[in-house]
Amino acid sequence: MNELILIKLGEMVLKGLNRRTFEDVLMKNIRYRLADLGGFDIRIAQSAIYVTPKDKETDLEEAAQRIGRIFGIAAFSRARVVEKKLEAILEAAGEYLEDELSEASTFKVETKRSDKKFPLNSPQISMETGGYLLEKFPHLTVDVHQPDVVVHVEVRDFGAYIHGTPLPGAGGIPVGTGGKAAVLISGGLDSPVAAWMMAKRGVDLVGVHFASPPYTSQRAEEKVARLLELVSRYSGRMKMYTMPFTKIQEEIQKNCPEELFTIIMRRFMMRISNIIARKEGCGALITGESLGQVASQTMQAIGCTDIVAEMPVFRPLIGMDKTEIVAIARKIGTFETSIEPYEDCCTVFTPKHPRTRPELKYVQEAEQALDGETLIQECVEAARYRKIGYRKKEEDSF
Ligand code: ATP
Ligand code: MG
Repeated sequence: MNELILIKLGEMVLKGLNRRTFEDVLMKNIRYRLADLGGFDIRIAQSAIYVTPKDKETDLEEAAQRIGRIFGIAAFSRARVVEKKLEAILEAAGEYLEDELSEASTFKVETKRSDKKFPLNSPQISMETGGYLLEKFPHLTVDVHQPDVVVHVEVRDFGAYIHGTPLPGAGGIPVGTGGKAAVLISGGLDSPVAAWMMAKRGVDLVGVHFASPPYTSQRAEEKVARLLELVSRYSGRMKMYTMPFTKIQEEIQKNCPEELFTIIMRRFMMRISNIIARKEGCGALITGESLGQVASQTMQAIGCTDIVAEMPVFRPLIGMDKTEIVAIARKIGTFETSIEPYEDCCTVFTPKHPRTRPELKYVQEAEQALDGETLIQECVEAARYRKIGYRKKEEDSF
């Protein structure tokens, strides 16, 4: 049986002149994400992408799942390809959608004919197909308003395609068309969701994680890597930097007022992330902050950290409630990993009474007690990175 995946493009269809670039990036992303499943012929025509496996044994179900996580896709379906002949179309509709139609009680046929040379027009094709299916499945009736199954017939340039109700795509715009940003990633619930949200807007990611061994364990770091692996199923491959943060935290603890600990620590995170971001060619930072969620996420506290950022800081969760964030975490599959109980460098040193309305002047004064430049330099020099979401072979030659 000739089967393929038919993809309908998302928002980028609207982007006028940029459209070509968007399509090229999307094609590249699809090609990359499917490469290890076998050979595919991938081509684009008339706002649709045709993904045809070269080998009949290819795992099309896995391919469809992966396609469902690629940004820039509005909808997609597995479809049967047949010759552009009415008999072939009818037979394929009855056979390919047999399971769905057997279980349904109502259906309708929708036809799209972009090949105007085909002898029947769209309403005629729908009529013929509907009549054929009613005869083959006598229990069915036609319902044009709320059918259980929509049988799609598309007569296009390269053939005729039969498919059922399309699946929703991941939406958004293709990763790689929206620049690159460094996401400050902890093991918590929020930052993986923030990373996913920015990737959805086409942003390529670099992860920056602060670890404080021995207060935080290797396993805590591995958890963060696993979270980014999950995000990378959507965002594509990325680097994850691990920044040794112990000394900085100890110095802050020793030399600064306890109630300013968190805010000073965050300012260090920002400054260090600036450097990694610049080195990686990023144009922005991303955090998982949500206004008022904790003491360090008040407007004043965010003001004190934002001011040391040397580029825009994207906080896609800023106006979201925890329940909304959790719903996304569940949807994208990071929730279960996020709630695993590992220590985070922030929680290890949390002050009992953090200042919720820190004043910048006092924060800056308190920082005078530290040799910030040297601490930052040492941290950056000791940074390590690993590769997330890379295919095995490539990783070796990275
Ligand atoms: P998350 O669920 O992402 O950990 P949170 O609600 O626990 O967020 P905080 O711990 O205050 O909030 O962290 C706020 C943001 O700061 C995080 O979303 C993340 O972007 C960044 N951040 C916190 N801890 C780390 C860390 N160890 N490494 C890198 N970034 C961090
Ligand atoms: Mg956290």
